[in-house]
Amino acid sequence: MNIYWEMTQACALACRHCRAEAVPMAHPLELTFDEGVSLLQQITEFGPPLPQLILTGGDPLARADLYPLIDEAVKLGIGVSITPAATSALTRDVLVRLKEHKVEGLGLSLDAPTAELHDSIRGIPGTFHRTMQAIAWAQELEMPLQVNTLVAAETAPSIPQVYELLKPYAVSRWSLFFLISVGRGKVLQPLAPEDAERLMGWIHDTSRIAPFIVATTEAPSFRRVALERLRAEGMTGEQIKRSGVARSFGIRDGHGIMFVSNTGDICPAGFLPLAVGNVRKDRVADTYRNHPVFQSLHDPTTFEGRCGVCEYHALCGGSRARAFSATGNYLASDPLCTYEPGHHHG
Ligand code: SF4
Repeated sequence: MNIYWEMTQACALACRHCRAEAVPMAHPLELTFDEGVSLLQQITEFGPPLPQLILTGGDPLARADLYPLIDEAVKLGIGVSITPAATSALTRDVLVRLKEHKVEGLGLSLDAPTAELHDSIRGIPGTFHRTMQAIAWAQELEMPLQVNTLVAAETAPSIPQVYELLKPYAVSRWSLFFLISVGRGKVLQPLAPEDAERLMGWIHDTSRIAPFIVATTEAPSFRRVALERLRAEGMTGEQIKRSGVARSFGIRDGHGIMFVSNTGDICPAGFLPLAVGNVRKDRVADTYRNHPVFQSLHDPTTFEGRCGVCEYHALCGGSRARAFSATGNYLASDPLCTYEPGHHHG
């Protein structure tokens, strides 16, 4: 299980499509150090194996108490990853320090294969160069690195070039995030469903030859595409399970994923901004297990529309965040998926 903690909304960047609508200043009601420690203690209530904690923002490097909080988490036995913003604060020394404090993974965003396109999508000059620099440092320091790439109408044509750019680096995981119009993301255009389906086919083919894991975020119907292709090749269920494709099957917003905002709101995912509690008064493990919204997210038979009757819903279930952003109903169908349930061809 992954818990994303948006430590702060503060960030020196102001990317055009920021989910968090980050601003230079921290929110006045941001969780304090003590409240942060109490959140970390709450996470241990999940019991073993403890969830992985992903520190996000805003820019987690903008928190003055970042390292003491990392130390608290590590002391409690919680694995920590971090997704810093590509600002001038992201230096090689910072990566060294994160490694010394036992941060297990680094996540960086790279949306396009050239400075011109990446910086214009981010709206900030210099971020491409800084990101590539940090990728090289992570490789040099042998820090496990996840690169996140935005998939939108503007970026989709250059995704294969991003792959070519990343190929020589020691990336452990490349995750393609299919845009959801949340926060400032509303300024970019999502991919049309047919184009998304075509790109998922390319992602699947690439994932089989890539030197790193290739995955999608907020596009669980990729698992259906992958499964259909493997079956068409004659692979059995058992072979598919062993192939590693099935690794992420069944994980979706609110199920294997939980998000805590900078002010403590508990949401099923960062892109599903439906606050069902707050860590100042509720417990994260209890909310995850017992809140009716989380309970329905754990159970695909409660889903509606195509995703409700789909034979793939246990492994896919659609993006609950996209359903929510498109319809206001987090149980509705994922509008990115073209699949008509019942048309399964074996
Ligand atoms: S209809 Fe829904 S559950 Fe079925 S493959 Fe598409 S997104 Fe997934």
